[in-house]
Amino acid sequence: MVERFVDIEKVGGSIPPRITRRWQAGQLVERNIDVVDAGGSLPAIVYDFRRWQAGSPSPRTKSMQKTILSIETSCDETSIALIRTHKTDTGISVDVLAHIVHSQANLHAEFGGVFPALAKREHGLNLVPVMLKVIAESKEKENELFKTQIEASIETKEKIQKVLEREPDLYEHIVQHLLGVSGEGIDVIAITQGPGLEPALWVGINFAHALKVLWPHVEVIPVNHMEGHLVSALFENNVIKTPNFPMTTLLVSGGHTEIIHMDSWGSYTIVGKTRDDAVGEAYDKTARLLGLSYPGGPEIGRLAERARVEQIPSPVELPRPMIGTPDLDFSFSGLKTAVLYAVRDNEFSEDEKAGLPANRLTAQAEWQAGLAREFEEAVADVLTTKLFKALVESGAQSCAFGGGVMASKYLREKLAEKVAEAGSNIDIYMPAHNLTGDNALMIALALGVRLHHTPEHITSTDSIRAIGNLKL
Ligand code: ADP
Ligand code: MG
Repeated sequence: MVERFVDIEKVGGSIPPRITRRWQAGQLVERNIDVVDAGGSLPAIVYDFRRWQAGSPSPRTKSMQKTILSIETSCDETSIALIRTHKTDTGISVDVLAHIVHSQANLHAEFGGVFPALAKREHGLNLVPVMLKVIAESKEKENELFKTQIEASIETKEKIQKVLEREPDLYEHIVQHLLGVSGEGIDVIAITQGPGLEPALWVGINFAHALKVLWPHVEVIPVNHMEGHLVSALFENNVIKTPNFPMTTLLVSGGHTEIIHMDSWGSYTIVGKTRDDAVGEAYDKTARLLGLSYPGGPEIGRLAERARVEQIPSPVELPRPMIGTPDLDFSFSGLKTAVLYAVRDNEFSEDEKAGLPANRLTAQAEWQAGLAREFEEAVADVLTTKLFKALVESGAQSCAFGGGVMASKYLREKLAEKVAEAGSNIDIYMPAHNLTGDNALMIALALGVRLHHTPEHITSTDSIRAIGNLKL
């Protein structure tokens, strides 16, 4: 198998020449300037940015700067970001030119969870409006961006139509709004490949492929959504910090609960994970059982906080599943079942439901708040215990957190306390609140890390496929 390593350089002009190289046993044996087309004959393309990293002389230094457009559609957020990155002594400096997140959560609320066919349809309707907002926002920062007008040929239109044969809404929107827009200035498109809902992922991927037809100079590179959650913790004051390794990361979202060990950039070992439900899923299912709306995390969090402030006790004792097992795995489905039994065993009279004292919670609401508190404490006990064990076992110097559940103030506090207990020298990285849930900025940041720290790990095929259960 011939492997090709491709270097895309921007040596002053706007359209980068491409240089293909052939390597054998680590040696460069062939170097050609040519165009690697998307003909399908190449098994994989690996982007080789190594020489830039080595600090090659000007004008290459300029090409260390990368402008990344990222697209995220793995679940129920349609999001696009545009960032510019370059490497500095302390990490990767990032200029966020635009970042738009459009949540569909209110549409899915009536189903009590994300409905995949609806998510797919909504992404198709939302992507171009979100892209237009990104264009407007980035032009405000830099009016040179998206300035040039282009005229798409009939052939281009037909190709886009073919790429989008399953997304007619998206095709119509592109024809109406994007055909004249130039992607000059954008180097790479980062697209979420998985994990996530495959129908939803496909819409974003097809959109990225359509943009590639319109803007042939842009490369499209797949990104792992979980890598995005992880990297977002390291993003502080417009810099992606380089942590001291080894680093342990706890990722807690609607679909995942994982502890990841890293010895260096790009080396991920999943040392613990849930055997059934993810933490976010347990929050959402518990909320549903309590008659609260989707997503359940914020609702449960609010009730639990109220119970703590008003000292409302837990009405039942919920289990702490797998808390004492010698491994780093989790199980949260039993928690939801225990909540189900507790709810079933509690019938409230109409008077109690109506709540007699006007300024007091009703008996039912107090009961719910107490249960939410117990639920959140059970989750915190399990997560902190397993994280502590992971930190001690790995000798971690840094500890990072990511995923939608990290929006919980209570969990943030409890987890940070436990990290300090495991070692006062362990650096803690928490994501900004707006980067805990799904968003495209984290996808761009994850690609930024790869481009600048581990370019040898960047692989792409000519056409990217959605992978619902993609692993880190
Ligand atoms: P996924 O990538 O799996 O779709 P996200 O990373 O977007 O998930 O996280 C969504 C999950 O985060 C939902 O299950 C939601 O209930 C949970 N969540 C959101 N806010 C909070 C919160 N304040 N406390 C606990 N969980 C939360
Ligand atoms: Mg997520």
